[in-house]
Amino acid sequence: MNRNLKLALQKKGRLTDKSLELLKLCGIDIENHSERLTVTSRNFPLEILFLRDDDIPEYVQDGVADIGIVGLNVVVEKQTKTTVLENLGFGRCNVMLATPDNKALKNLEELNGKTIATSYPNILNDFLKKNNIEAKVIELSGSVEIAPSLGVADLICDIVSTGNTLMMNKLKKSFNVFDSEAVLIRSKERKISDTLNKTLNDLLRRIGSVQKARESKYLMMNIPKTSLKKIINIIPSLKSPTVLHLADENMLAVHAVIPSDQFWKIIDELKTAGASGILLLPIENMIL
Ligand code: ATP
Ligand code: ZN
Repeated sequence: MNRNLKLALQKKGRLTDKSLELLKLCGIDIENHSERLTVTSRNFPLEILFLRDDDIPEYVQDGVADIGIVGLNVVVEKQTKTTVLENLGFGRCNVMLATPDNKALKNLEELNGKTIATSYPNILNDFLKKNNIEAKVIELSGSVEIAPSLGVADLICDIVSTGNTLMMNKLKKSFNVFDSEAVLIRSKERKISDTLNKTLNDLLRRIGSVQKARESKYLMMNIPKTSLKKIINIIPSLKSPTVLHLADENMLAVHAVIPSDQFWKIIDELKTAGASGILLLPIENMIL
């Protein structure tokens, strides 16, 4: 039976746009999916299933979808038989403990004997166990942040990003419990056909090159001929940059791919070494 590889994505939520953008950068065209449960790509043997994020780990475990994109927080919480194939670098957030403003914790030990409301009981219990803390965990499926003001819990453990929701409920970030980002998962035990495996490997290679490109930038600058050695020494990854002649015989143009996070650390040094007309460009795709 020849079928397409099935990828589960969040239907509507914080991960949807970024997941579709990743596929687009991989050169995979997806038509407008609004109101549809499944969409098949026109130029890649991939069928997309749009689901609630909470259901994705189980559907992947059971083979309803071959792979899925979902937050690591959900994957770990659901304790399904799935493995992470790739960290995707978007949808970053933290599962954190938060206390009422006037009841800040000085250390983790103060959690002993407290009641904590959360939608992440497994992640929280794991954290408490690792830190030898005995606390009572109450599972709530939503609106966890109102639990302390209702007198249901002393503190909460939930996803926090800006902290605005916390502030509105007079809560304050306390300890970090879990770092999360979107991940690509597959079932631990289910086998797929050789053809589907080939498609999966092709997709993974494309995702890898998009990720690599995100971590890199294309640097262009003009330098005095006499500074070439100095410039190369400033950037370790500049072992063999492209060097071009300019109309001005005393100048050279230097082009190189550098790690994105390096640029701001070295810009002053580059300028001191005489670099001018510095341009930093994004790279869309980088073949490994
Ligand atoms: P669904 O209707 O699919 O169940 P949801 O309301 O459970 O959606 P979203 O709020 O869309 O989920 O969040 C999906 C995932 O996005 C989270 O599980 C988490 O991994 C990630 N995420 C990133 N930043 C945040 C944030 N600031 N708040 C909540 N989730 C975030
Ligand atoms: Zn959800």
